[in-house]
Amino acid sequence: MSSENVACHCCDLIVEVSTLKPGCKAHCPRCGHLLSSQTANAYNKATAFAASALLFLLLSLPFPFMAFQSQGREQQVSLIQSGYDLLILGFPLLALLLSVFILIVPSLLLCAYLLILIPLRKNTAYPWSYTLARLIFTLHPWAMAEVFLIGVLVSLVKISGMADLVIGMSFWAYVLFALCLIATITCIDRLQLWHSLDKASSIQRTPPKHNYGGAMQQQLQSCHCCGLIHHLDAHNCQRCSSSLHPRIPASLQKTWAFLITGALLYIPANIYPIMHTRLLGADEPSTILGGVVLLWQHGSYPIALIVFIASILIPIVKMLALFWLALSVQAGHQNRVSERIWMYRMTELIGRWSMIDVFVVAVLVALVQLGGLASILPGIAVTAFAGVVILTMLSAINFDPRLIWDNLDKDELHIIKSGQEPLNDLLDEIN
Ligand SMILES: [Zn+2]
Ligand SMILES: [Zn+2]
Repeated sequence: MSSENVACHCCDLIVEVSTLKPGCKAHCPRCGHLLSSQTANAYNKATAFAASALLFLLLSLPFPFMAFQSQGREQQVSLIQSGYDLLILGFPLLALLLSVFILIVPSLLLCAYLLILIPLRKNTAYPWSYTLARLIFTLHPWAMAEVFLIGVLVSLVKISGMADLVIGMSFWAYVLFALCLIATITCIDRLQLWHSLDKASSIQRTPPKHNYGGAMQQQLQSCHCCGLIHHLDAHNCQRCSSSLHPRIPASLQKTWAFLITGALLYIPANIYPIMHTRLLGADEPSTILGGVVLLWQHGSYPIALIVFIASILIPIVKMLALFWLALSVQAGHQNRVSERIWMYRMTELIGRWSMIDVFVVAVLVALVQLGGLASILPGIAVTAFAGVVILTMLSAINFDPRLIWDNLDKDELHIIKSGQEPLNDLLDEIN
């Protein structure tokens, strides 16, 4: 790629990103946000990984995923059947979450990658390639194959004492699928992909004239999806057709609304049982914290720690971080900018991992259905907890980190225009 000017997603600074050598990365000089990275032979590798991932996903569907044997009785589940079983048992929300996050979104992502990359390897792009690229970057946070796998491992440990477990062919196919999906996503750089699509379509973009500094200060805005810079009065992106906004519209209001609803749901999620285990007719309800204590008492320390971090620590830390970010922006704070940016990146990165406990319940419910002998049913808390995870993810997605920088005095931002050294002085000053 030749050089392209982009406005940093995190701080709005316009930065020129030039051609990178394989293995190199470009970071924003002001906030450290990763702007672009280059993988050698990226499109060939990504095509191979995406095709393999899709093949492994197809292979993981028809065969048994896991089998659960107790006192001569056996319950076998496949991935498709697990969603169907949950639906039949009367838990449509769990069935929907399981199907969307572990099958539908990842397969849509892989198909979109292949449809873009196969022609792009021959330097060809179609108008719909742009639509698919937009779809890919919207769907990314909702593909949770690797989170599901950790959930499966936790489920295995939880019921290992109850019966014999047999790992099926589909499980190994799903592991390979998850690894190939991660490899595909890692190979593709957002900026490079948009640039390659333009190059293949022989389109030369000429962004409006600008200086070194924040985009909005110069009456400019960048597309949140492809990063192309436009004038403030433009409504739709020339490249990907996304609606343009200098900042996420009503960002703070949406962040607060999702955060407060998520925090309220966190109370029933912890008070009520997340799961009911029925052994020989005796009902044993367990809450999230109760499940962690039980795992610890049984000596499964690493798994207890994983569930504690994913289900208790991460949601609390994430809600506190979002609360601090939204409050500090609203109050116009100008200090601790680097800490707040770091906190924002953490909330974006860790939020989805809380879904582990929801997947654990879904797997156990689908697997352990041996009638009066042993059965596991979801508790009311699982719906509330899934709500907490989804709402806090939406809260983080709707928080605009550029608002943190908007609070800095214009005088201070003005210094940045003169170059790198005053910028470091400024960062020292505001920290
Ligand atoms: Zn930045
Ligand atoms: Zn765009």
